Amino acid sequence: SWLRICGRLKGEVGEVEYRTWLTQIALGPIDGDEITLLLPTRFLRDWVRSQYGDRLNELWHNEVPALRRVELQVARPGDPAPLQLAEVTPTPTASAPATEESSPASRPVAEVRSDLVTALDSRFTFDTFVVGKPNEFAYACARRVAEKPSSVGFNPLFLYGGVGLGKTHLMHAIGAELVKSGNVSVAYMSAEKFMYRFIAAIRSQSTIEFKEQLRSVDVLMIDDLQFLIGKDNTQEEFFHTFNALVDAGRQIVVSADKSPSDLSGLEDRLRTRLGCGMVADIHATTFELRISILEAKAAASGVVVPAKVLEFLAHKITSNVRELEGALNRLIAHANLFGRPVTLEATQDVLHDILKAHDRRVTIEEIQKKVAEHWNIRLTDMSSARRARNVARPRQVAMYLAKQLTSRSLPEIGRKFGNRDHTTVMHAVNRVTELMERDAAFAEDVELMRRMLES
Ligand code: ADP
Ligand code: MG
Repeated sequence: SWLRICGRLKGEVGEVEYRTWLTQIALGPIDGDEITLLLPTRFLRDWVRSQYGDRLNELWHNEVPALRRVELQVARPGDPAPLQLAEVTPTPTASAPATEESSPASRPVAEVRSDLVTALDSRFTFDTFVVGKPNEFAYACARRVAEKPSSVGFNPLFLYGGVGLGKTHLMHAIGAELVKSGNVSVAYMSAEKFMYRFIAAIRSQSTIEFKEQLRSVDVLMIDDLQFLIGKDNTQEEFFHTFNALVDAGRQIVVSADKSPSDLSGLEDRLRTRLGCGMVADIHATTFELRISILEAKAAASGVVVPAKVLEFLAHKITSNVRELEGALNRLIAHANLFGRPVTLEATQDVLHDILKAHDRRVTIEEIQKKVAEHWNIRLTDMSSARRARNVARPRQVAMYLAKQLTSRSLPEIGRKFGNRDHTTVMHAVNRVTELMERDAAFAEDVELMRRMLES
């Protein structure tokens, strides 16, 4: 059950936070209705208690209802070590623990609603969602549905995109908005939870009640529908629920990692119906959007994070917003705890492990591309004969960085820069070194480039 709790926490807080804080917990003794969790230092104990204490209590109580209290203590020598939980599979945020599924069908309808309202994460609102090119369409559709559910053309709303790009956030935002406007019953659950509930209903021979409960809501939102691939019976049930709701003029919102037509393994007729309303794609983030998101989250935290640090993070962590957020949260936590300003050096230090995971070998081509972008010259000028200062200087920087960051020899580097001679490369390296000593702003610029590219 500890494993299951860990999986759930990992799903909720994301890989980064999970690895930073929660893998340090060891299981201590269980005494009556109290379980002790052990942490290696006082600092970690206080941190875990303040950030995750309530949730740990809740999860343990759900797993083992007899447990009333979770006690966090500092481990002493000889106490058990943390389990190696690196392989724990994350469980999607919104799904409730399996034990909660034991008698869902016996619940009165109203409780379904309150249950689903509490499942909404209050941090995920339209206000906290940062809009940019990659997500503006999905955002607009979500807004529209929250404003006027069941409009023709927007039912169902199908949101899709890669991991950590904001699908769940948008769904919760729709839910929060509708609940705020009152008078609308909203049901949100992950496809996984949907399946558990369905199976539990079959076991307790209460599928009829289960269906009635579902069909009584005004808005049904099912997150991560791809989970239903290969679960034919659950798909079938979902399909019928879906049809019943749409026919009754209720709104459906579904998310998945792929578009309806790409969700092979889902029944054809279900895919067809899913694609009938509005299908909105959330694209991978751009550098600009990542910066905006970081700016918004940094501002909300109250900690001053220099633009250079935000740029650095946005360059380094490109895969998904959750990781980006996790990295920033860790920086902020450190700044708060130690009262030190956030600097580029501190960032590299504090995020060492995360950054390493995002590292890759840098190539001369990448260096040229990044440097050209940064100093706003054409990539072709890296190999052109133009000698104007505004072109020649960035070219020299690129050569300097190629020497610093790759294991290429001077002649090899020269060849990549329009077949220049190795003495030209040497000259560039010396010149940039000199300039960096003389001009602090220039040095900082080059240094930033280096950090961004560094492997
Ligand atoms: P998905 O469901 O697509 O995997 P989530 O909605 O869970 O992704 O988003 C992952 C994390 O990133 C959440 O904490 C969410 O608040 C945050 N996030 C994603 N996109 C944005 C955005 N555009 N603005 C603000 N936060 C975002
Ligand atoms: Mg999600």
